[in-house]
Amino acid sequence: MSRIALISDIHANQPALEAVLRDIEQLQCSAIYCLGDIVGYNANPVECLELVKGLQIPTVRGNHDEEAISDDNPQYMNPVAYSALMWTRSQLNEDHKKYLRRAPFQRIQPNGVVLVHATQDKPNSWAYVTNCDLATHSLNMLVEGRFLCFNGHTHVPRAFIQHDGAVHEYELGDIPLYKEFKYLINVGSVGQPRDGDIRASYGILDEDTMTFYHRRIEYDIAETQRRIINAGLPEMLATRLSAGI
Ligand code: ZN
Repeated sequence: MSRIALISDIHANQPALEAVLRDIEQLQCSAIYCLGDIVGYNANPVECLELVKGLQIPTVRGNHDEEAISDDNPQYMNPVAYSALMWTRSQLNEDHKKYLRRAPFQRIQPNGVVLVHATQDKPNSWAYVTNCDLATHSLNMLVEGRFLCFNGHTHVPRAFIQHDGAVHEYELGDIPLYKEFKYLINVGSVGQPRDGDIRASYGILDEDTMTFYHRRIEYDIAETQRRIINAGLPEMLATRLSAGI
């Protein structure tokens, strides 16, 4: 049995990550891959980093991970993200930063599965794949028999599938995988879903049946919200979790 869990955009939400890890354990996955943004927004960046590191989960770098290890002043961030970033930087020690610095922008796993945070064509430009045109650039990068790329970044679960000469967009669900097609699958966000569903989102790749399964997991949102408020982070970061935005 070969099941691989794909998690993304944990964003320092420890209760959500722990609930997802429990589900992964129950499903007896043989590996976990992480698509970046372990930190940022919520109140447990250190705990989440240590969980990912402790489980030796291969991970790529997300834009919030990148900002957390940099000293620059990101002008593009909105005020809420910016103040969460400054707080996050104050929490991380050199070891945590070294760990994030080692995370590459892209990974091609031994099974040919490609992992990126944002896009495959320019992984460190942090573009958002929100339509078929934008997905095409990433899908065209799938060469040499590779046909499966997983990403995150938008916090909105989606599948972009190239078949019959065009790219099609689908709501994420359980998807049969064919080697003749190409897939860009956004697994959604563990720690800050933005598709109106407040449950943590992640995915399972079953390599025996060649099927992707979308998982939604309930977690203790009130506890995450308490931690955000207690840390002095912007209240909006807590309220958005109960709206899934
Ligand atoms: Zn993110």
